[in-house]
Amino acid sequence: MAETHTHTHTLTCLACGQGNRLPADRLDQSPKCGTCGAALMPAKPVAIDLATLERAARRDSLPLLVDFWAPWCGPCRAMAPEFERAAGLLAGRARLAKIDTQSHPDATVRFDIRGIPAFILFRDGREAARLAGARPAAQLADWVRGQS
Ligand SMILES: [Zn+2]
Repeated sequence: MAETHTHTHTLTCLACGQGNRLPADRLDQSPKCGTCGAALMPAKPVAIDLATLERAARRDSLPLLVDFWAPWCGPCRAMAPEFERAAGLLAGRARLAKIDTQSHPDATVRFDIRGIPAFILFRDGREAARLAGARPAAQLADWVRGQS
């Protein structure tokens, strides 16, 4: 056999937190959560809470890039459209999520966030890299690509 397609991905639904397993070749076919029907490969960053973040960070087989931000933070708000653009640049390679540290201060403590915006890339069940400060979408995407 020249090639097999038995590799499966585990993706946490960023909407409901349910774990979904699917064949790698289904990633680009707009897979949906078996529990709530939300897109498992959303085109835009998804707002999540700490519980979902913990689950996804621990078990997802696709890299997850998380933006730690807050509504009172000007650079964070300026970064929002760039982060959204980065989701497009990284489509199929990583999923993007954002967590509002004002609504979820427990996330700031859990991940020892010293300043925002801050970006953490999770891969293979752990934190792979982190980056502080706003930057253009292309730079952020290049940084993510450089980690794999
Ligand atoms: Zn779901």
